[in-house]
Amino acid sequence: MRGTRVSLHSGARASCRAIIPRVNAPCELCDGPSGDVLYEDDLARIVLVDDGEHPGFCRVILNRHVAETTDLSPDDRRHLMDMVFATEKAVRDVVGPDKMNVASLGNVVPHVHWHVIPRRRNDAHFPNPIWGARVRDAAPAPIPPNLVGKLRAAIALELCD
Ligand SMILES: [Zn+2]
Repeated sequence: MRGTRVSLHSGARASCRAIIPRVNAPCELCDGPSGDVLYEDDLARIVLVDDGEHPGFCRVILNRHVAETTDLSPDDRRHLMDMVFATEKAVRDVVGPDKMNVASLGNVVPHVHWHVIPRRRNDAHFPNPIWGARVRDAAPAPIPPNLVGKLRAAIALELCD
């Protein structure tokens, strides 16, 4: 694997180094918002994914191309996770799911992003992950009216003091 050796720290930890894969392929998360933007700051954005089977499915996407959450500074890591859990709380409040799934995979797109997915016991994949095997035919889930507006307000309530 080709890579670029970069220093992740300065000062006392200057000897701490890691190999980060060189980005040659296009990255869809660098190329655009990847959904309706519900909230954004310098570090990351929260978007609503266009997924008719799982209304309220959101992603928290870092605004720069980094492969792993642990590549971030501790402050950035904490802030990112605050955004993830604020999103989970907002989706719970607005959508009222049976269960929440929160996941970071990045196997296909190695750019830090967290999936925040409301699940229903009768959705097509439950109890499997949404990327797993379908276990039933499921009717499209009802989409709460003004979903974007309600999620924006609920996330702002969590993140803006
Ligand atoms: Zn990227």
